[in-house]
Amino acid sequence: MRIGFIGLGNMGAAMARNLLKAGHDVVLWNRNAAKADDLVGQGATLAATPAEAAQAEVVHTMLADDRALEAVSFGEQGLLSAQPDFVHVSHSTVSVKLADRLAAAHAGHGSGFVSAPVFGRPAAAADAKLFIVAAGAESALAKARPLFGDIGQRSFEIGDTPSQANLIKLSGNFMIMSVIESLAEAMALAMRGGVDKAKLLEVLTGTLFGAPIYTTYGGLLVTESFRPAGFAAPLGLKDMNLAAEAAGDARVPMPILSLVRDRLTATVQREGNDIDWLGIAKLAWADAGLDT
Ligand code: NAP
Repeated sequence: MRIGFIGLGNMGAAMARNLLKAGHDVVLWNRNAAKADDLVGQGATLAATPAEAAQAEVVHTMLADDRALEAVSFGEQGLLSAQPDFVHVSHSTVSVKLADRLAAAHAGHGSGFVSAPVFGRPAAAADAKLFIVAAGAESALAKARPLFGDIGQRSFEIGDTPSQANLIKLSGNFMIMSVIESLAEAMALAMRGGVDKAKLLEVLTGTLFGAPIYTTYGGLLVTESFRPAGFAAPLGLKDMNLAAEAAGDARVPMPILSLVRDRLTATVQREGNDIDWLGIAKLAWADAGLDT
């Protein structure tokens, strides 16, 4: 299939590589075109504009945030200026409002739109082990569906309102952040009592907490893998802000969200933009007088 892929960051480059490996004809666009060099060497082609990348059956976007996705979609030579015979599959973690706006814009343009945010870090993207949460009209989903198996281990279809997939993704990221905070606090307690945090994790994950979220993030906390960032703290903060915006609009109180959002804000202030979002653990440990 001829596929466009836009956004070759930590996640997108790995996803585009897997689509290429699966035998698709992949056309790339990235703001910094040099990031496409490697994939072009492996057989992909480089488009001069997002609209050119959309001369395909399906065009995937995996961009940092609302601003990036807006620029690529609505900007001059953006996706919505392309011929309409394509389906836009949006994997970025963006706002519910932008997903609604894109769904309406694509409907007006005559192109298809699927929101398909993903769970999984760059290593999972590289191994085609992402979880994909997809929503959109059946006619658009039918084109996107066969591609999900090339980039992920499982996909979930939520319904025909694209932004509901974004709401699920934001809910999930809020849960991940709260697990990181609670794990870090538990590790601080254990370490203050002379218990190795690896031992604590071994017991937790071997008993009641054997879920991937505890094994993956617990393992990263044990090895203190704060840099280089697989998922940078400013992107995590963007997600907590988007979750807070959605909660505000729906008048849903989320006190734990408020707490972890402040933790992440403080982490970015203290540590800079290059730390992984699991860097909030450093605050819990410093507050407990632990010099890790
Ligand atoms: P990243 O490494 O920071 O890559 C961001 C991408 O967005 C790059 O291609 C960047 O282009 C592009 N971009 C940023 N601002 C832009 C703009 N104004 N106009 C055009 N392009 C722009 O981010 P990532 O870690 O791959 O994450 C991508 C998305 O996936 C985010 O929404 C994130 O929340 C979500 N996500 C990430 C993870 C993870 O663990 N990393 C997991 C699940 C979901 P340049 O190369 O030119 O800068």
